[in-house]
Amino acid sequence: MHVRREIGGFRTILGHPDRGLVTGPLPRGCELCFSGLKATIFITGLCDDSCYYCPVSREKLGRDVIFVNEERVTSVEEIIVEVERQGARGASITGGDPLLVPERTIDVISRLKDYFGDNFHIHLYTSGRYATLPILKELCRVGLDEIRFHPTRNAFIKKISLASKLSCMDVGAEIPIAPGLEGWAKRVIIEVEKAGGSFVNLDEMEFVEPNAEALMLRGYREDPKRPFTVKGSLEAALKVLRWASSNVSIAVHFCPAIFKDNIQTRNRFRRTARRDATWFEIPTSYGTLVWGELRGLKECPEEAEPCLEGACCLRPERELLKKLARKYGAKAYIVEAFPTRNRRPVVSTVQL
Ligand code: SF4
Repeated sequence: MHVRREIGGFRTILGHPDRGLVTGPLPRGCELCFSGLKATIFITGLCDDSCYYCPVSREKLGRDVIFVNEERVTSVEEIIVEVERQGARGASITGGDPLLVPERTIDVISRLKDYFGDNFHIHLYTSGRYATLPILKELCRVGLDEIRFHPTRNAFIKKISLASKLSCMDVGAEIPIAPGLEGWAKRVIIEVEKAGGSFVNLDEMEFVEPNAEALMLRGYREDPKRPFTVKGSLEAALKVLRWASSNVSIAVHFCPAIFKDNIQTRNRFRRTARRDATWFEIPTSYGTLVWGELRGLKECPEEAEPCLEGACCLRPERELLKKLARKYGAKAYIVEAFPTRNRRPVVSTVQL
């Protein structure tokens, strides 16, 4: 966390409403995430909860699919390739509920640790519903570094103490925050402290297509000043942080939705673009890649090589592209896209 500023005169709340606010040290998993150094492994869309605020897209929720960041994958080997493409130094394992597929989750953690080493930091999210002692012990055995409970029911809160007693990983909770949820947040914070956990993350409640209708029915509205978030979430978080700063000793951290989009994802794209660029692609400061294309040729000239959808790709040098287009009767373009495996979605295609 680079920003260290006191908010509203409360000496122990540091940060910025758009970058995150904390009352204590950031969990290690958040530090790496801030720099775009965490890969997000969506290990399954299966989940036995049905939270009205669930922001998971309907193409993932309830389906047993695996994604690493934006990429659909089907094997541990592909997971490793994607983590490497990003140059991540850690991973967050999320879902759905990862503990609904415990063998897969444990295998992935174990293989990531074997391949990238013990310092590769892994944190995992779970409702706690399936966090039994044998499963928690297995997670410890394979080297899970941090577990974050999202206790969808009060009964699951006791799983936090079960995990804490094993003393092999950092234990905390992560829950959404919006107006009306301050009481729940305080209860979870108290329980995490009592159970021996070390942090609670409050996620600014997202207002996105999958949950918009359910949120509207409960009277929530989108904040016009903080797009894609529930109006009043920041203020609700501030109330809880102020209370926490003088009532508990564990760290409470507010994670703004805008941070995920503008900083975390952008940093991740920048890193992936730099590492994954081919000889003809130029990484941009926005985290995209730019290259030149000649289209309509049967064979590529020696200055270019065959690439996506039958095009010939080369560096995005306008004059060279125009010259080659004239010489070979081709159409020349400059293309900009995100650094996904198939370079989609395309951000812009400009014909020269
Ligand atoms: S536990 Fe998580 S994935 Fe499952 S419904 Fe709730 S928010 Fe969605």
